[in-house]
Amino acid sequence: MFTIEARKMGFRVHTFSPDIDTPTGQVADIETTAVYEDLDAVREFARSVEVVTFEFENVPSATVNAAAEFADVHPSGEILHTTQNRLREKTFLSKNGFPVTPFRHIKLIDDLYRAANDLGMPAVLKTAGFGYDGKGQAKIKESSDIESAFEAMNGKESILEAFIDFEKEVSVVCARGSNGNFSHYGVIENEHANHILDVSFAPAIVSEMVFKDAIDIAKSIADTFQYVGTMCVEFFLTKDEKLLVNEIAPRPHNSGHLTFGPCVASQFEQQVRAVCGLPLGSTEFYRPAAMANLPGDIWNDGEPNWAAALTESNVKLHLYGKAEPKPGRKMGHLTATAPSAEAASQYVRNSRELLKKML
Ligand code: AMP
Repeated sequence: MFTIEARKMGFRVHTFSPDIDTPTGQVADIETTAVYEDLDAVREFARSVEVVTFEFENVPSATVNAAAEFADVHPSGEILHTTQNRLREKTFLSKNGFPVTPFRHIKLIDDLYRAANDLGMPAVLKTAGFGYDGKGQAKIKESSDIESAFEAMNGKESILEAFIDFEKEVSVVCARGSNGNFSHYGVIENEHANHILDVSFAPAIVSEMVFKDAIDIAKSIADTFQYVGTMCVEFFLTKDEKLLVNEIAPRPHNSGHLTFGPCVASQFEQQVRAVCGLPLGSTEFYRPAAMANLPGDIWNDGEPNWAAALTESNVKLHLYGKAEPKPGRKMGHLTATAPSAEAASQYVRNSRELLKKML
Protein backbone atom coordinates (compact mmCIF):
# COMPACT_ATOMS: atom_id res chain seq x y z
CA MET A 1 0.00 0.00 0.00
CA PHE A 2 2.95 2.29 0.75
CA THR A 3 4.54 1.43 -2.58
CA ILE A 4 1.36 2.07 -4.56
CA GLU A 5 1.10 5.55 -2.98
CA ALA A 6 4.81 6.24 -3.56
CA ARG A 7 4.63 5.16 -7.22
CA LYS A 8 1.54 7.37 -7.73
CA MET A 9 3.63 10.31 -6.57
CA GLY A 10 6.45 9.48 -8.97
CA PHE A 11 8.88 7.81 -6.59
CA ARG A 12 10.82 4.68 -7.49
CA VAL A 13 10.68 1.99 -4.79
CA HIS A 14 13.27 -0.63 -3.91
CA THR A 15 12.14 -3.17 -1.30
CA PHE A 16 14.23 -5.45 0.92
CA SER A 17 12.67 -8.56 2.45
CA PRO A 18 13.64 -12.12 3.40
CA ASP A 19 10.76 -13.39 1.23
CA ILE A 20 10.24 -13.57 -2.52
CA ASP A 21 7.28 -12.19 -4.46
CA THR A 22 6.14 -10.08 -1.51
CA PRO A 23 3.08 -7.80 -1.77
CA THR A 24 5.52 -4.83 -1.82
CA GLY A 25 7.81 -6.54 -4.33
CA GLN A 26 4.90 -7.04 -6.72
CA VAL A 27 4.52 -3.25 -7.00
CA ALA A 28 8.08 -2.02 -6.37
CA ASP A 29 10.66 -1.26 -9.08
CA ILE A 30 13.22 -3.56 -7.48
CA GLU A 31 12.83 -6.38 -4.94
CA THR A 32 15.91 -7.55 -3.05
CA THR A 33 15.50 -10.88 -1.29
CA ALA A 34 17.99 -11.46 1.53
CA VAL A 35 17.85 -12.21 5.24
CA TYR A 36 17.98 -9.21 7.59
CA GLU A 37 21.24 -10.57 9.04
CA ASP A 38 23.00 -10.27 5.63
CA LEU A 39 24.42 -6.84 6.42
CA ASP A 40 26.39 -6.63 3.15
CA ALA A 41 23.14 -7.02 1.23
CA VAL A 42 21.53 -4.42 3.53
CA ARG A 43 24.37 -1.94 2.84
CA GLU A 44 24.20 -2.51 -0.91
CA PHE A 45 20.44 -1.94 -0.78
CA ALA A 46 20.80 1.23 1.31
CA ARG A 47 23.43 2.62 -1.12
CA SER A 48 20.83 2.46 -3.89
CA VAL A 49 18.14 4.54 -2.13
CA GLU A 50 17.78 7.96 -0.53
CA VAL A 51 15.45 7.08 2.31
CA VAL A 52 14.55 3.85 4.08
CA THR A 53 11.27 3.16 5.86
CA PHE A 54 9.49 0.07 7.20
CA GLU A 55 6.19 -1.71 7.09
CA PHE A 56 7.22 -4.15 9.81
CA GLU A 57 8.77 -3.19 13.16
CA ASN A 58 10.57 -6.42 13.91
CA VAL A 59 13.61 -5.57 11.79
CA PRO A 60 16.77 -6.22 13.87
CA SER A 61 18.66 -3.13 15.12
CA ALA A 62 21.90 -4.20 13.41
CA THR A 63 20.05 -4.21 10.06
CA VAL A 64 18.64 -0.73 10.64
CA ASN A 65 22.04 0.60 11.74
CA ALA A 66 23.73 -0.84 8.62
CA ALA A 67 21.10 0.83 6.40
CA ALA A 68 21.54 4.13 8.29
CA GLU A 69 25.24 4.24 7.22
CA PHE A 70 24.09 5.08 3.68
CA ALA A 71 20.53 6.45 3.74
CA ASP A 72 18.15 8.45 5.92
CA VAL A 73 16.09 6.03 8.02
CA HIS A 74 12.59 7.00 9.23
CA PRO A 75 11.38 6.20 11.81
CA SER A 76 14.78 5.87 13.51
CA GLY A 77 16.37 2.60 14.56
CA GLU A 78 16.04 3.66 18.19
CA ILE A 79 12.24 3.94 17.85
CA LEU A 80 12.06 0.51 16.22
CA HIS A 81 14.24 -0.94 18.97
CA THR A 82 11.92 0.46 21.66
CA THR A 83 8.64 -0.53 20.03
CA GLN A 84 9.61 -4.05 18.95
CA ASN A 85 9.78 -5.20 22.55
CA ARG A 86 6.81 -4.88 24.92
CA LEU A 87 9.01 -4.44 27.99
CA ARG A 88 11.08 -1.64 26.43
CA GLU A 89 7.96 0.00 24.99
CA LYS A 90 5.99 -0.06 28.24
CA THR A 91 9.03 1.09 30.23
CA PHE A 92 9.53 4.01 27.80
CA LEU A 93 5.84 4.94 28.05
CA SER A 94 5.58 4.79 31.83
CA LYS A 95 8.90 6.62 32.35
CA ASN A 96 7.59 9.44 30.18
CA GLY A 97 4.33 9.66 32.12
CA PHE A 98 2.01 8.01 29.54
CA PRO A 99 -0.81 5.85 30.94
CA VAL A 100 -0.24 2.11 30.44
CA THR A 101 -1.77 -1.13 31.68
CA PRO A 102 -0.07 -2.11 34.98
CA PHE A 103 2.72 -4.59 34.10
CA ARG A 104 5.63 -6.54 35.56
CA HIS A 105 8.83 -7.89 34.02
CA ILE A 106 8.96 -11.73 34.20
CA LYS A 107 12.13 -13.80 33.95
CA LEU A 108 11.59 -16.61 36.44
CA ILE A 109 8.53 -18.50 37.59
CA ASP A 110 8.89 -16.84 41.02
CA ASP A 111 8.56 -13.41 39.34
CA LEU A 112 5.30 -14.63 37.83
CA TYR A 113 3.86 -15.84 41.12
CA ARG A 114 4.77 -12.52 42.74
CA ALA A 115 3.42 -10.43 39.84
CA ALA A 116 0.13 -12.37 39.67
CA ASN A 117 -0.29 -11.71 43.36
CA ASP A 118 0.56 -7.98 42.95
CA LEU A 119 -1.55 -7.29 39.86
CA GLY A 120 -4.36 -9.72 40.65
CA MET A 121 -6.05 -12.16 38.28
CA PRO A 122 -7.13 -12.44 35.54
CA ALA A 123 -3.90 -11.25 33.95
CA VAL A 124 -2.19 -11.72 30.57
CA LEU A 125 1.33 -13.07 30.15
CA LYS A 126 2.98 -11.86 26.91
CA THR A 127 6.40 -12.53 25.40
CA ALA A 128 8.41 -9.31 25.45
CA GLY A 129 9.62 -9.61 21.85
CA PHE A 130 8.05 -10.47 18.51
CA GLY A 131 4.43 -10.60 19.65
CA TYR A 132 1.47 -9.31 17.67
CA ASP A 133 -2.18 -10.17 17.07
CA GLY A 134 -2.36 -12.10 20.35
CA LYS A 135 0.62 -14.30 19.41
CA GLY A 136 2.82 -15.31 22.36
CA GLN A 137 0.09 -14.58 24.92
CA ALA A 138 -1.43 -16.68 27.70
CA LYS A 139 -4.29 -15.63 29.95
CA ILE A 140 -3.97 -16.46 33.65
CA LYS A 141 -7.40 -16.75 35.22
CA GLU A 142 -6.35 -18.37 38.50
CA SER A 143 -3.21 -19.57 40.29
CA SER A 144 -3.48 -23.04 38.76
CA ASP A 145 -2.86 -21.47 35.28
CA ILE A 146 0.50 -19.96 36.30
CA GLU A 147 2.79 -22.94 35.58
CA SER A 148 1.29 -23.72 32.16
CA ALA A 149 1.31 -20.03 31.13
CA PHE A 150 5.00 -19.77 32.12
CA GLU A 151 5.82 -22.92 30.10
CA ALA A 152 3.96 -21.52 27.08
CA MET A 153 6.55 -18.67 26.94
CA ASN A 154 9.27 -21.28 26.23
CA GLY A 155 11.83 -19.60 28.46
CA LYS A 156 11.43 -16.23 26.65
CA GLU A 157 11.54 -13.00 28.61
CA SER A 158 7.96 -11.83 29.14
CA ILE A 159 5.69 -9.33 30.86
CA LEU A 160 2.58 -9.86 32.93
CA GLU A 161 -0.20 -7.33 32.36
CA ALA A 162 -3.32 -6.78 34.41
CA PHE A 163 -6.35 -7.85 32.38
CA ILE A 164 -8.38 -4.75 31.50
CA ASP A 165 -12.14 -5.14 31.36
CA PHE A 166 -12.27 -2.30 28.84
CA GLU A 167 -15.28 -0.52 27.39
CA LYS A 168 -13.77 -0.48 23.91
CA GLU A 169 -10.51 -0.35 21.97
CA VAL A 170 -9.58 2.73 19.98
CA SER A 171 -6.55 3.94 18.05
CA VAL A 172 -5.04 7.17 16.82
CA VAL A 173 -3.26 7.02 13.48
CA CYS A 174 -1.09 10.09 13.09
CA ALA A 175 1.92 11.40 11.23
CA ARG A 176 4.77 13.70 12.11
CA GLY A 177 7.03 15.43 9.61
CA SER A 178 10.75 16.15 10.09
CA ASN A 179 9.81 19.81 10.75
CA GLY A 180 7.64 18.65 13.70
CA ASN A 181 4.33 19.18 11.89
CA PHE A 182 1.66 16.81 13.20
CA SER A 183 -1.52 15.45 11.64
CA HIS A 184 -4.01 12.82 12.79
CA TYR A 185 -7.10 10.97 11.58
CA GLY A 186 -9.10 11.50 14.77
CA VAL A 187 -10.04 8.53 16.94
CA ILE A 188 -10.78 5.19 15.26
CA GLU A 189 -12.84 2.50 17.02
CA ASN A 190 -11.61 -1.09 16.74
CA GLU A 191 -13.38 -4.40 17.22
CA HIS A 192 -11.28 -7.55 17.58
CA ALA A 193 -12.09 -11.22 16.98
CA ASN A 194 -9.69 -13.84 18.45
CA HIS A 195 -7.22 -11.05 19.40
CA ILE A 196 -7.03 -9.94 15.75
CA LEU A 197 -8.46 -6.68 14.44
CA ASP A 198 -11.77 -7.42 12.72
CA VAL A 199 -13.61 -4.15 12.00
CA SER A 200 -12.57 -0.50 12.43
CA PHE A 201 -14.69 2.58 11.98
CA ALA A 202 -14.25 6.33 12.25
CA PRO A 203 -15.16 8.54 13.92
CA ALA A 204 -15.10 6.46 17.10
CA ILE A 205 -18.05 6.87 19.43
CA VAL A 206 -16.23 8.59 22.33
CA SER A 207 -16.72 11.75 24.40
CA GLU A 208 -15.00 15.01 23.47
CA MET A 209 -12.76 14.60 26.49
CA VAL A 210 -11.61 11.12 25.41
CA PHE A 211 -11.06 12.39 21.84
CA LYS A 212 -8.86 15.23 23.09
CA ASP A 213 -6.93 13.00 25.52
CA ALA A 214 -6.26 10.37 22.84
CA ILE A 215 -4.92 12.94 20.36
CA ASP A 216 -2.85 14.69 23.05
CA ILE A 217 -1.25 11.39 24.10
CA ALA A 218 -0.50 10.37 20.49
CA LYS A 219 1.04 13.77 19.75
CA SER A 220 3.18 13.75 22.90
CA ILE A 221 4.44 10.23 22.09
CA ALA A 222 5.32 11.32 18.54
CA ASP A 223 7.08 14.44 19.86
CA THR A 224 8.95 12.53 22.58
CA PHE A 225 10.24 10.11 19.95
CA GLN A 226 10.98 12.98 17.50
CA TYR A 227 9.05 10.66 15.21
CA VAL A 228 9.10 11.02 11.41
CA GLY A 229 6.46 9.05 9.49
CA THR A 230 3.04 7.53 10.13
CA MET A 231 2.48 5.98 13.55
CA CYS A 232 -0.41 4.39 15.42
CA VAL A 233 -1.18 4.38 19.13
CA GLU A 234 -3.58 1.64 20.23
CA PHE A 235 -5.57 2.25 23.42
CA PHE A 236 -7.90 0.49 25.82
CA LEU A 237 -10.71 2.82 26.93
CA THR A 238 -11.80 1.83 30.42
CA LYS A 239 -15.40 1.94 31.65
CA ASP A 240 -14.56 5.14 33.62
CA GLU A 241 -13.31 6.86 30.43
CA LYS A 242 -9.57 6.49 31.04
CA LEU A 243 -7.24 5.76 28.17
CA LEU A 244 -4.42 3.23 28.57
CA VAL A 245 -1.84 2.81 25.81
CA ASN A 246 -1.76 -0.86 24.77
CA GLU A 247 0.74 -0.64 21.94
CA ILE A 248 2.56 1.69 19.56
CA ALA A 249 2.93 0.67 15.91
CA PRO A 250 5.85 2.60 14.33
CA ARG A 251 4.26 2.40 10.87
CA PRO A 252 0.90 2.73 9.11
CA HIS A 253 -1.58 0.49 10.92
CA ASN A 254 -4.38 -1.89 10.00
CA SER A 255 -6.95 0.38 11.69
CA GLY A 256 -5.83 3.22 9.40
CA HIS A 257 -6.71 1.37 6.19
CA LEU A 258 -10.08 3.12 6.34
CA THR A 259 -8.28 6.36 5.44
CA PHE A 260 -8.19 5.17 1.81
CA GLY A 261 -11.04 7.04 0.19
CA PRO A 262 -12.43 9.54 2.70
CA CYS A 263 -9.24 11.65 3.13
CA VAL A 264 -7.02 13.65 0.76
CA ALA A 265 -3.99 11.76 2.07
CA SER A 266 -4.32 8.13 3.24
CA GLN A 267 -2.06 6.97 6.06
CA PHE A 268 0.31 5.50 3.43
CA GLU A 269 0.49 8.67 1.35
CA GLN A 270 1.17 10.51 4.60
CA GLN A 271 4.03 8.10 5.32
CA VAL A 272 5.50 8.81 1.87
CA ARG A 273 5.16 12.56 2.42
CA ALA A 274 6.65 12.46 5.94
CA VAL A 275 9.68 10.27 5.21
CA CYS A 276 10.43 12.14 1.95
CA GLY A 277 10.33 15.54 3.67
CA LEU A 278 7.17 16.75 1.87
CA PRO A 279 4.34 18.72 3.52
CA LEU A 280 1.67 16.46 5.10
CA GLY A 281 -1.69 16.13 3.32
CA SER A 282 -5.12 16.89 4.75
CA THR A 283 -6.49 14.16 7.03
CA GLU A 284 -10.01 15.54 7.16
CA PHE A 285 -12.70 12.93 6.41
CA TYR A 286 -15.33 13.96 3.86
CA ARG A 287 -17.52 11.08 5.19
CA PRO A 288 -17.41 8.54 8.04
CA ALA A 289 -15.64 5.32 7.06
CA ALA A 290 -15.18 1.66 8.00
CA MET A 291 -12.89 -1.26 7.22
CA ALA A 292 -13.36 -5.02 7.64
CA ASN A 293 -10.38 -7.36 7.49
CA LEU A 294 -10.32 -10.41 5.25
CA PRO A 295 -8.54 -13.15 7.20
CA GLY A 296 -7.37 -16.35 5.48
CA ASP A 297 -10.28 -18.20 7.12
CA ILE A 298 -12.51 -16.76 4.39
CA TRP A 299 -10.85 -19.22 1.97
CA ASN A 300 -11.77 -22.26 4.14
CA ASP A 301 -14.48 -23.38 1.71
CA GLY A 302 -12.61 -22.42 -1.47
CA GLU A 303 -12.28 -19.15 -3.40
CA PRO A 304 -14.47 -16.43 -1.86
CA ASN A 305 -17.31 -15.04 -3.97
CA TRP A 306 -15.76 -11.68 -4.90
CA ALA A 307 -18.51 -10.78 -7.35
CA ALA A 308 -21.21 -11.25 -4.69
CA ALA A 309 -19.28 -9.07 -2.22
CA LEU A 310 -18.91 -6.29 -4.78
CA THR A 311 -22.66 -6.14 -5.40
CA GLU A 312 -22.44 -3.82 -2.38
CA SER A 313 -21.40 -1.02 -4.74
CA ASN A 314 -20.26 1.30 -1.93
CA VAL A 315 -17.54 -1.12 -0.93
CA LYS A 316 -13.94 -1.18 -2.15
CA LEU A 317 -11.89 -4.39 -2.15
CA HIS A 318 -8.15 -4.49 -1.48
CA LEU A 319 -6.26 -7.81 -1.67
CA TYR A 320 -2.60 -7.68 -0.72
CA GLY A 321 -1.26 -10.39 -3.04
CA LYS A 322 -0.07 -12.71 -0.26
CA ALA A 323 0.68 -16.17 -1.60
CA GLU A 324 -1.20 -18.45 0.76
CA PRO A 325 -4.35 -17.88 2.81
CA LYS A 326 -3.90 -19.22 6.36
CA PRO A 327 -6.38 -18.95 9.23
CA GLY A 328 -5.84 -15.62 11.01
CA ARG A 329 -3.54 -14.28 8.24
CA LYS A 330 -4.65 -10.87 7.00
CA MET A 331 -5.09 -11.28 3.23
CA GLY A 332 -6.85 -7.99 2.44
CA HIS A 333 -9.65 -5.71 3.54
CA LEU A 334 -12.91 -4.06 2.52
CA THR A 335 -13.58 -0.35 3.02
CA ALA A 336 -16.64 1.86 2.69
CA THR A 337 -17.72 5.41 3.41
CA ALA A 338 -21.30 6.39 4.36
CA PRO A 339 -23.26 9.19 6.05
CA SER A 340 -22.56 7.52 9.45
CA ALA A 341 -19.80 5.26 10.81
CA GLU A 342 -22.47 2.72 11.69
CA ALA A 343 -23.76 2.61 8.11
CA ALA A 344 -20.19 2.30 6.77
CA SER A 345 -19.57 -0.62 9.17
CA GLN A 346 -22.78 -2.24 7.98
CA TYR A 347 -21.64 -2.01 4.34
CA VAL A 348 -18.32 -3.74 4.96
CA ARG A 349 -19.86 -6.40 7.22
CA ASN A 350 -22.62 -7.17 4.67
CA SER A 351 -20.10 -7.32 1.87
CA ARG A 352 -17.89 -9.71 3.86
CA GLU A 353 -20.90 -11.97 4.51
CA LEU A 354 -21.67 -12.00 0.79
CA LEU A 355 -18.18 -13.40 0.14
CA LYS A 356 -19.34 -16.64 1.71
CA LYS A 357 -22.19 -17.05 -0.80
CA MET A 358 -21.72 -20.26 -2.84
CA LEU A 359 -20.17 -19.60 -6.23
P1 AMP B 1 -1.82 -7.19 21.67
O1 AMP B 1 -1.12 -8.14 20.73
O2 AMP B 1 -1.10 -7.00 22.96
O3 AMP B 1 -2.24 -5.90 21.02
O4 AMP B 1 -3.18 -7.92 22.06
C1 AMP B 1 -4.18 -8.23 21.11
C2 AMP B 1 -5.56 -8.03 21.70
O5 AMP B 1 -5.73 -8.85 22.88
C3 AMP B 1 -5.82 -6.61 22.18
O6 AMP B 1 -6.19 -5.78 21.11
C4 AMP B 1 -6.96 -6.87 23.18
O7 AMP B 1 -8.19 -7.11 22.50
C5 AMP B 1 -6.52 -8.16 23.86
N1 AMP B 1 -5.67 -7.84 25.06
C6 AMP B 1 -4.33 -7.75 25.08
N2 AMP B 1 -3.88 -7.38 26.30
C7 AMP B 1 -4.96 -7.22 27.09
C8 AMP B 1 -5.15 -6.83 28.46
N3 AMP B 1 -4.13 -6.55 29.28
N4 AMP B 1 -6.44 -6.75 28.91
C9 AMP B 1 -7.49 -7.04 28.10
N5 AMP B 1 -7.37 -7.42 26.80
C10 AMP B 1 -6.12 -7.51 26.28
